[in-house]
Amino acid sequence: MNYSRLVDILSKKELKVTPQRLAVLEALMQLKTHPTAEEIKDYVRKKNPNLALGTVYNILDTFYEKRIVTKVKTDKDFVRYDMDMHKHHHIYCEECDSIENYYDNELDELLQDYFKKKRIPNFKIKEINLQITGNYIEHKPTKTN
Ligand SMILES: [Zn+2]
Repeated sequence: MNYSRLVDILSKKELKVTPQRLAVLEALMQLKTHPTAEEIKDYVRKKNPNLALGTVYNILDTFYEKRIVTKVKTDKDFVRYDMDMHKHHHIYCEECDSIENYYDNELDELLQDYFKKKRIPNFKIKEINLQITGNYIEHKPTKTN
């Protein structure tokens, strides 16, 4: 793991660089797509056995406020965290409970154009993120989360 890159992310957001924050950030980078706070805690605890779940939650809240992460919700479970701040949608497989990123510029433009023409009364749209729910027809051999 490239620590200078992690330090960079925290510094840019004017956050004090602490070992705990670095550990959580590393977990988010390593776990890639959409881990829960529990999963992040488990990952971080391997190296830092004393880190409490509360601390992990506090750090994640700070990261969320600073827009280092976004939150993803599914019907089934808790909040999951997403470090990819580029515009994307989500594909959610109900069967294996996995969330994958879905990038489609054409779809973004289509949605933007649509709501430019057809406004929602009394509402200003900031962002449109789709969650496309379904099932993989052929499941991947490993659960990717
Ligand atoms: Zn995502």
